[in-house]
Amino acid sequence: MHKTFLNYIGGEWQTSKSGDILSSYNPANKTEVVGSVQKSTREELDEAAAQAKKAQKAWRKLAGAERGNYLYKAAVIMEENLEEIATTMTKEMGKSLPEAKGETTRGIQILKYFAGEGMRSDGDVIPSTDPSALMFSKRVPIGVVGVITPWNFPVAIPIWKIAPALIYGNTVILKPASEGSVTAAKVIECFEKADFPAGVVNFITGSGSVIGQGLAENKDVNAVTFTGSNNVGKNIGNIVGARGGKYQLEMGGKNPIIIAEDCDIEAAVDATLSGGLKSTGQKCTCSSRVIVQSAIYDQFKERLIKKAKEITVGDGMDASTWMGPCANEGQFNTVKYYIDKGKEEGATLALGGNQLTEGNLKNGYYIEPTIFDNVTSDMTIAQEEIFGPVLALMKVDTIEDAIAVANDVEFGLSASIFTKNIDHILTFIDDIEAGLVRINSETAGVELQAPFGGMKASSSYSREQGQAAKEFFTTMKTVFIKG
Ligand code: NDP
Repeated sequence: MHKTFLNYIGGEWQTSKSGDILSSYNPANKTEVVGSVQKSTREELDEAAAQAKKAQKAWRKLAGAERGNYLYKAAVIMEENLEEIATTMTKEMGKSLPEAKGETTRGIQILKYFAGEGMRSDGDVIPSTDPSALMFSKRVPIGVVGVITPWNFPVAIPIWKIAPALIYGNTVILKPASEGSVTAAKVIECFEKADFPAGVVNFITGSGSVIGQGLAENKDVNAVTFTGSNNVGKNIGNIVGARGGKYQLEMGGKNPIIIAEDCDIEAAVDATLSGGLKSTGQKCTCSSRVIVQSAIYDQFKERLIKKAKEITVGDGMDASTWMGPCANEGQFNTVKYYIDKGKEEGATLALGGNQLTEGNLKNGYYIEPTIFDNVTSDMTIAQEEIFGPVLALMKVDTIEDAIAVANDVEFGLSASIFTKNIDHILTFIDDIEAGLVRINSETAGVELQAPFGGMKASSSYSREQGQAAKEFFTTMKTVFIKG
């Protein structure tokens, strides 16, 4: 019997007055309900914002070290519940259990990292031109932060937004993706058990157009941090910006991996498959364009296809599964649409392209690892984010051509090159239009202590994680004291 999770507002678990719920289904077994959440109303969101605003007054007055203790306690509780959270994630959005455990562990590490942040410097002394004065800057919280998250990292993304927001003295309202809400509720249970003061952490579920839009519009919400699709992100930015709020948008990617003729081909093949197809291609940092120098194109393609054929696709709960299903029906249909589009526009299907229906796979949203050959920059599959297990092979002659093709998209999140040539590496670092630049490593993969974010249409140019998070989640007072 599945559980129905409630909203967590002002320190109380609450049922929505709408009387409606939203249910999450297992993408590996479409008829299995993983859990349900509240389909909340705009009034309930406004109540959450009022509670968060009230709680922020006392929360910001606590010493940073004390706020850090709460974060650390939440981390310890999450550690105790790691298995359950990871299992829920695999059942709700399909990624393999080891990946789900890895993500949950990442969430715990982020909480610990930001717990320590409460005792680090929060300003600078600046020499005044008046020798008898003391001048310094001091970082202060923004107030109430609205957190809107996608389904692809239902633990790590909420935590990498909530943890810095809280440690710097803000209170938060989390609105998770509907398709990841049950997993997010499990995370919020850990925060509840960590005894945060009432109203500091609030959780409200419901449709994006009501609760997400409401967070963008509510004047008690001083800042909104968002990860998800471009259209929704831009709309949120416009609304929050127009009312003078602060916003941070992390959106799509169309990440290139460049394979130079002098590279270690085996390593490049492994990184292409891991960076492109792990999590079923549903990471915003996944490689989707594989730009290969013509001298090794055929050799690389042959190795890539051979290894891709060895990938085991199945239920993320099975130990043998390397790649799970698409996370939900909408995503499954999107991937099929792009595969058809690739064929229509003249790309050659070199591997896969079909739904998998053998045995138990018929109950889920499975698509074969798919590789297109002869892809050119003018094709839709070379321009738009697919968010699925689809790789597009593109042939170029020189590294300069490769970088030009890599930059020929509206996005600029992550990019990688495989080469041993230091000149190529330096040119790539300089010329590639991406926030995450990776050499001899897959495009996916971020470290929590380093800045994360994209260029061009991938981001609003602010950065998340590590010390960079401070920029978004605080503002500054410049203090001048004269005796
Ligand atoms: P969305 O942008 O639709 O959803 C992200 C979050 O925004 C969810 O919490 C969603 O709620 C909420 N939301 C939806 N509509 C609104 C609105 N009008 N106002 C405010 N908030 C809203 O992304 P999806 O999760 O549907 O994924 C779609 C595409 O986005 C993917 O195919 C992929 O291309 C991209 N994506 C990119 C990610 C990244 O990390 N860069 C991550 C995930 C997706 P609800 O779930 O209730 O609709």
